[in-house]
Amino acid sequence: MDKISVVIPCWNEEEALPIYYKEMNRVMESMNQKTEKVALDFELIFVDDGSLDGTLRIMKELNQKDTRCRYLSFSRNFGKEAAIYAGLKAAEGNYVAVMDVDLQDPPALLPDMYHILREGYYDSVATKRSTRTGEPRIRSFLSERFYRFVNRISKTEIVNGARDYRLMNRKMVDAVLEMSEYNRFSKGIFGWVGFRTKWLEFENVERSAGETKWSLKKLFCYSLEGITGFSVAPLSLAAIVGVLFCGLSFLLIVVIIVRTLVWGDPVSGWPSLACIIFMVSGVQLLCTGIVGQYLSKTYLETKHRPIFILRDSSEDGERN
Ligand code: UDP
Ligand code: MG
Repeated sequence: MDKISVVIPCWNEEEALPIYYKEMNRVMESMNQKTEKVALDFELIFVDDGSLDGTLRIMKELNQKDTRCRYLSFSRNFGKEAAIYAGLKAAEGNYVAVMDVDLQDPPALLPDMYHILREGYYDSVATKRSTRTGEPRIRSFLSERFYRFVNRISKTEIVNGARDYRLMNRKMVDAVLEMSEYNRFSKGIFGWVGFRTKWLEFENVERSAGETKWSLKKLFCYSLEGITGFSVAPLSLAAIVGVLFCGLSFLLIVVIIVRTLVWGDPVSGWPSLACIIFMVSGVQLLCTGIVGQYLSKTYLETKHRPIFILRDSSEDGERN
């Protein structure tokens, strides 16, 4: 019998959670009706990422009402990436899906995803948005730039518009869990582990309830994670710019010697000198900054801190 585990990261989602459960329940029922011989087993793993509202209470109610619903609750907000990791670790099914709770990842796609994996050729079915309607323009624009940039400098393919929503078989889930790095960027990790992935496209759906948890600042930090996590190209920048500047300064020396010999040496040119000093020290600081970014990530990795800390879970029993 196949078992599908669904990992659902939730942070302050008391409004969206009941709507999600209703919709997911409908999908699970329809999938069970369609599979003739063997019944499908499901497991919904809700991960409470340190919510401050009634999210955990609702998860507990769902757990009481429906034994397929499990929950994990973090001691504080560790971020969506940590929540995905915790959920994947806890999942017992031979197929595991990752899904947002706000219905922006339509549960209705799950039956198709499952049937594709059942055929056995693909190891994972991933999804991407074909449109970004309903999203602020500036956010779409910056996202496009980011994907273009990161794909140019990274060997790992990070698909533009890709969502974290996907269904994977056990082999792929185990491979993802092997990557227990502290600085996590799932879109890169899913690409890095390889396997055969089929992409499904769907139109952007607006949030069912509540508000997005991603500010521009958060997205910016997350994009740095993607760059430093999956490319070391920026580190070569210092070397490349260094070589360019050496060549340029050599040319300038020749020009200045020739000019002095031909026209004499009137004292002039301090504004250009000041500009050059500013520019060169700017480039040096930029390069040091890039090295610093990588160093700080390495620093955090070497500490081997846990990716998440549980405060409570459905296996733990009662706590309030
Ligand atoms: N989320 C989370 N921890 C966070 C931020 C978000 O668990 O620190 C969850 C959130 O509850 C939702 C999913 O991640 O289920 C996607 O978040 P959101 O819908 O706000 O992102 P968007 O769809 O706007 O990119
Ligand atoms: Mg969303």
